[in-house]
Amino acid sequence: MQKEYSGKPVFGGIAIGKVTIYHKKESVVKREKVDDVEAEVKRYHDASEKAKEQLAQLHDKALKEVGEANAAVFEVHQMMLDDLDYQESVENIIRTQNVNAEFAVATTGDNFSEMFANMDDDYMRGRAADVKDISNRVVGILSGAGATGFTATEPSILLADDLAPSETVQLDKSLVLSFVTRHGSTNSHTAILARTMNIPALIGVDFSEDDMEGHMGIVDGYTGRFIVDPDDAVLAEYKEKKEEEEEKQRLLQELKGKPNVTKDGTEINVYANIGSVKDVADVLKNDAGGIGLFRSEFLYLGCDDYPSEEDQFRAYKTVAENMAGKRVIIRTLDIGADKQVDYFHLDHEDNPAMGFRAIRICLKRPEIFKTQLRAIYRASYYGNISIMFPMIISVDEVKKIKEIIAEVKKELDDQKIPYKDCELGIMVETPAAVWMAEELAKEVDFFSIGTNDLTQYTLACDRQNPNLEDFADPHNPAVLREIEYTIKSGHKGGAWVGICGELGADTTLTETFLRMGVDELSVSPSRVLAVRNAIRNTDLSK
Ligand code: PEP
Ligand code: MG
Repeated sequence: MQKEYSGKPVFGGIAIGKVTIYHKKESVVKREKVDDVEAEVKRYHDASEKAKEQLAQLHDKALKEVGEANAAVFEVHQMMLDDLDYQESVENIIRTQNVNAEFAVATTGDNFSEMFANMDDDYMRGRAADVKDISNRVVGILSGAGATGFTATEPSILLADDLAPSETVQLDKSLVLSFVTRHGSTNSHTAILARTMNIPALIGVDFSEDDMEGHMGIVDGYTGRFIVDPDDAVLAEYKEKKEEEEEKQRLLQELKGKPNVTKDGTEINVYANIGSVKDVADVLKNDAGGIGLFRSEFLYLGCDDYPSEEDQFRAYKTVAENMAGKRVIIRTLDIGADKQVDYFHLDHEDNPAMGFRAIRICLKRPEIFKTQLRAIYRASYYGNISIMFPMIISVDEVKKIKEIIAEVKKELDDQKIPYKDCELGIMVETPAAVWMAEELAKEVDFFSIGTNDLTQYTLACDRQNPNLEDFADPHNPAVLREIEYTIKSGHKGGAWVGICGELGADTTLTETFLRMGVDELSVSPSRVLAVRNAIRNTDLSK
């Protein structure tokens, strides 16, 4: 029987395919008495072997998808399962307490993880999450839960409560046709990922999971409909719609290679936003003129410990080389708020969006910042890299950043490591930066307006809070007036000005932005050609 739900669309499009439910990796473990402890010890060892097989497969997959540095964690996990102290602890608990293997593994995981978390060595502290992870995996196998995370084997519609950025990083994107989540907001990172991947997504869908796994589903990213087990007529109707959509996409592809120029001859740059090295393929496919925002924090979200200078250098160099001389704007680490990473050991905050995040962390922990800057400057030699700083609120911050950059460059000079002088820019995403735009522009080469955060901070609307969808309107005149003021003041101070927040891709505003004098729009790769189309249909002389 056809079931229908509705939600708020965050990206248009039609998806038709099987439904797969994303299960959070949490399981409740019960303590149970057992009679045959040796049989229980054997169950544990069998499950551990199976976990190692799974990890070996994950390692191979990660190696192909995200490279050696990011895949290494799965090797570490395999080694941890072989650790004799860990094994001995599990066996002892089973034998001395006559309990089930699930309980022994979970208890060992908790104990070891607490022990690691209390060590005063950063590397060892980082292992706390790993030991928890491997224990969860073994418990999952023992309890037959198995279905943790995303288990699809064919491209599917992914259903979840919500996805953390670190969870989206680990998804096999080629198996996701669409996201449907209970929670999340229009500007959450799941939504941004959907736009980057050019797939429909709905949030705020109050679905019930019963009898849904593996069933046929349809996501209508235009109207917000989510249909499970569609009637034949509905399925046929949507298949037709999907074909029409594909035809439209083909037409957009014809715009490839054409300039981003208005009917009256104003030309601007259209760049793309990326979160990983892999996204560069989409940038090139969609013919963007450069990368206007490389969210570098995703390199940090994808691993269990600080990525080394070498790992980062390789990532930035690859992007710069693949873009073959086109501008690549790398935004320095924007961790905190909705993007949390365990190994940073940040204190709990009641109000993380207004808390210790982005440039604030970098200025307070210069060793992390310097590692990233060294990696970026080293990579600058291999392409056309610019550097951009997030969450700026004062001229003083920019001056401090420049002092740190001077130190980094001096070190590179002393070591005779080649680099180029990169253009420097800031994100304008706080009202403070808007109102100091002219002074800030004198310090940097460019601005990029982050409308996602600018809307959040101007309208006092937490971008993660789904209850605020009706209030957090980036079309609010207060936000638009700030954008205009930023562009005008930026130009007065001598900086060029782009927009890299989601609003940059809103083609109902393309003409408005052009009239304001914007120099660049940086959008999800999949939106590049639509924005180009809007620019080419605009006539500013009228
Ligand atoms: C923004 O705030 O508009 C932006 C582009 O950055 P992020 O979405 O990564 O915070
Ligand atoms: Mg931002």
